[in-house]
Amino acid sequence: MIKIAKFGGSSVADAEQFKKIRAIVSSDTDRRFVVVSACGRRGKGDSKVTDLLYLVSAHLNYQVSCDDLLADIESRYVSIAEELGLSYPIHQEFAAFAKDARAGRLSTECLVSRGEYFTARLMAEYLELPFLDAAEVICFHHDGTLNWELTETKIRERAPQGGFVLPGFYGATRDGQIKLLDRGGGDISGAILAKCLHADLYENWTDVSGFLSADPRIVDNPDSIGRITYSEMRELSYMGASVLHEEAIFPVREADIPIVIKNTNRPNDPGTVIRESAGASDTEPIITGITGKRDFVAVHVMKSHMCDEVGVLRQTLSVFERYRVSVEHIPTGIDSFAVVVQGKDVKDSLWSIVADIKRDVQPDEIKVSDKLALISTVGRNMVGRPGVSGSLFAALGQEGISIRMIAQGSEEINIIVGVHDDDFGRAIRAIYSAFSDGSHILELHELKR
Ligand code: ASP
Repeated sequence: MIKIAKFGGSSVADAEQFKKIRAIVSSDTDRRFVVVSACGRRGKGDSKVTDLLYLVSAHLNYQVSCDDLLADIESRYVSIAEELGLSYPIHQEFAAFAKDARAGRLSTECLVSRGEYFTARLMAEYLELPFLDAAEVICFHHDGTLNWELTETKIRERAPQGGFVLPGFYGATRDGQIKLLDRGGGDISGAILAKCLHADLYENWTDVSGFLSADPRIVDNPDSIGRITYSEMRELSYMGASVLHEEAIFPVREADIPIVIKNTNRPNDPGTVIRESAGASDTEPIITGITGKRDFVAVHVMKSHMCDEVGVLRQTLSVFERYRVSVEHIPTGIDSFAVVVQGKDVKDSLWSIVADIKRDVQPDEIKVSDKLALISTVGRNMVGRPGVSGSLFAALGQEGISIRMIAQGSEEINIIVGVHDDDFGRAIRAIYSAFSDGSHILELHELKR
């Protein structure tokens, strides 16, 4: 079995974290392919090495001394090497790098990539695995896009079969120029590797035990999500839950390789498994998660006999299009509909949009309601299951929360309700408690009637 274990910045922040990683890697013989980010924050107020390196580059561009910054970065690597008794000549290597940087011999991308490079060098020695430079195997076209074909070939040719440590976040063009992926791109490197090695599992080690079913600032101790599908994850992340890098998901999703989000500081927590299809048993949770966002605006358009008239909706939507405002939802009635958009998108244009609709569509009435919060209850297991929306609306009713809008995605994996911004937290708590026993999300066989 092949597992790719990618460790994020906080997982490699200092020697203590390195020790945790060694324990994790040595506890499973399938974990031999390791990808690391650059050392991240060791706590509040600390800096990520990648940010410091960007700062070094800016200082050099403006010819301001960056000696302190470089010394600061070096000391992080040196203390890891010393504490772990590593023999990698970090002093000399770092000094050579600093000299090249000061002399302006490194591009910003090359300079910044050294964060993951040095982390991976130290980690490779500590885990007693070979170091594999990403510049040799992760290949880019000159326009900065990934050259998949070449990357696959290089990995096949160069990657030691028995395992290795690869620095994330960068690769190189055919002529050896270092290129970076997006910020947070270590996740993408791990996914690329998982796909090219036909891995069975992509483990993404971080500082949380997977995804939570609700925002812990709103719901006390929300249950964690055991399994989630990609579509559910998109629904949850779109409305605000922060999840993996979109590009990191794409290669593994395509290859149907499951991803598991694990916590380096609590390796025994089960974490969250992300996979296209999830099981269908009675012990599956009724809902997967609840998320939402405040500050939407609904523009209601009323026109009698609208249903016999062709083009009203199109004319209205083209007004929004003209102002480049993306439309979120369009709840419709017989002679009316509403167009729901994000408040921030119409901050300056709302009244011009209303005026244009009046002119182009000539409605009987047009009304704007703002301070609309949308809450999305997401769950693959809701599909075709009676009683779920009933419980949800009953919970809001019992809380005395008025529902201003209802929508359901066409895949039926979410139910969206619109409430007043002021009811946002209360509504999420009410929905959460309708589907939980106080601490855990209920399973299908426990659906409250
Ligand atoms: N070190 C890079 C960053 O901070 C990439 C990563 O951590 O994945 O964005």
